[in-house]
Amino acid sequence: GMQSLRKEHLYKVLVIGDLGVGKTSIIRRYVHQTYSTNYRATIGVDFALKVLNWDSETVRLQLWDIAGQERFGNMTRVYYREAMGAFIVFDVTRPTTFEAVIKWKEDLDSKLMLANGQSIATVLLANKCDQGRELTNNGIKMDQFCKDHGFVGWFETSAKQHKRAAVLLAS
Ligand code: GDP
Ligand code: MG
Repeated sequence: GMQSLRKEHLYKVLVIGDLGVGKTSIIRRYVHQTYSTNYRATIGVDFALKVLNWDSETVRLQLWDIAGQERFGNMTRVYYREAMGAFIVFDVTRPTTFEAVIKWKEDLDSKLMLANGQSIATVLLANKCDQGRELTNNGIKMDQFCKDHGFVGWFETSAKQHKRAAVLLAS
């Protein structure tokens, strides 16, 4: 029947960035529509599945959350393997987490490459935008940062207030 015509896709998507920036909160919000102030820092690998049904296609996004290894500032090749996209998250209230974004991007690009030699699509997320916008209020600077460091784009997010401000459209 029609069911057999559905195309199924499974994509591994990485969510990386420093400890406490809100990676787990963003995933919980996106997948389970919930928010809490204390997620225990699980040790090891954690992932959540977001299923998207489009016309004739089902997309399963497997969101990989790093848990407990953030302090090393890097992950293994094996962890990154076969990911098709990544979110690198920073906390707009903590400049050091923004500085760390470059380190995370370099770590990712040095260990994972598509078959055509390109790096995987990576989006920058400026999280906790409910707390202020000092770090991102210069959208042009952020756009240039993305160009300079190979991000496909950036968004302000708040796992707390369920916001994903489309700053790119406003500029
Ligand atoms: P992770 O270590 O990157 O996984 O960060 P968590 O998701 O555990 O979040 C760390 C802390 O920041 C928790 O207390 C969260 O409740 C809080 N948090 C996460 N996202 C937001 C947000 O968008 N706004 C605010 N105000 N707090 C957040
Ligand atoms: Mg976490």
